[in-house]
Amino acid sequence: MRRLEAILHETARIVVKIGTNLLTDKLAGLNLERIDSIAGGVSHLQSLGYHVALVSSGAIGAGVAARRLKERPRTMREKQATAAIGQPILMEAYEAAFRSHSRMVGQILLTKDDFVNRGRYLNARNTLSVLLENNVVPIINENDTVAVEEIKLGDNDNLSAMVANLIGADLLIILSDIDGFYSDDPSHNRRAELIPTVETITPRMERQAKKSGGALGTGGMATKIQAAKRCTSAGIAMIIANGGNPRVLEEIVSGEFRGTLFLPAANRLNVKKKWIGFVSHPRGSIRIDEGAKTALTNHRKSLLPSGVLEVIGVFNAKDTISVLDVMGNEIARGVSGYSSAELARIRGRRTDDVERVLGRRAHGEVIHKDNLVLLHP
Ligand code: ADP
Repeated sequence: MRRLEAILHETARIVVKIGTNLLTDKLAGLNLERIDSIAGGVSHLQSLGYHVALVSSGAIGAGVAARRLKERPRTMREKQATAAIGQPILMEAYEAAFRSHSRMVGQILLTKDDFVNRGRYLNARNTLSVLLENNVVPIINENDTVAVEEIKLGDNDNLSAMVANLIGADLLIILSDIDGFYSDDPSHNRRAELIPTVETITPRMERQAKKSGGALGTGGMATKIQAAKRCTSAGIAMIIANGGNPRVLEEIVSGEFRGTLFLPAANRLNVKKKWIGFVSHPRGSIRIDEGAKTALTNHRKSLLPSGVLEVIGVFNAKDTISVLDVMGNEIARGVSGYSSAELARIRGRRTDDVERVLGRRAHGEVIHKDNLVLLHP
């Protein structure tokens, strides 16, 4: 999948959403093995340099099992009480699973207000940024216990798309109990076929996306297509894949996976560049020579290793860094393609040399031009 590879090359932040059916078995409580495989997958993405936030359902399911209920609660107040019991159980399971990979998690509960009210929006965004920049995995859910019907966000598919926008993600991965988006609901139509790539969401597709077939799931494919519209129109790619496959996240980032890829519609460069330039915090900096400065400022080129004079600070690949000129003035910010340790080894080198020096496949640019913002253009 070449198009996915191109998207991944530009991706720094990823939101992963986990559906109810994956996490809870009817009334039997949380599927800890599943939570473990998700923690393993997310930790793998982090080791590749991606910043990952998780949107997870499952609070009510966990609460149902803890309370030994015979069926899922139906009334709003019963649901909220059950979610209040289940949410810490869910977090405890994630905390333990991520701890075994030496990763930290943080809990974020959001309400509609956090998206509508500008002050709260910026505040939520800042908190999430600090967590992501420190490689802590935010585990996000709707604040079910206080949201009343009128102010509910509704479902975690749409919530995850809103979170992807909030944190300036480039990719949303929705993991469900099904391989992807089909031409019809496969639980009712055996001839339904998997659609591997969607360029534009048509009204026909919206009709093909039915409500949930599952016992615990809420939105089914309908809310996933709504989420895809929110994402792709903002220039964010979205994938639906089967979270029942324990290696699903590894396969996605290798560029080969079974599922549906929704391609971003709009050119999101402007939104993304605002992010890089003004929202994310630089983790380190590099000093570049005059030739490289001219290539960036006058010719809008990508930054190549040959123009890098000095690497300052410690940062990972995909972190935002400052670009300084010879005199030490900050002229640009961008998302680094390499960690500071790698950059120290390839600075000043010709692009052809990079793979040999690093001993691995690598893209040439230090900062791709789409990930570079000039501060005084
Ligand atoms: P989750 O809890 O993961 O969000 P849901 O049960 O809400 O899961 O949604 C997934 C379900 O949507 C599938 O198991 C399937 O029964 C149903 N579905 C409806 N229409 C489609 C479609 N066109 N393609 C795939 N699945 C569909």
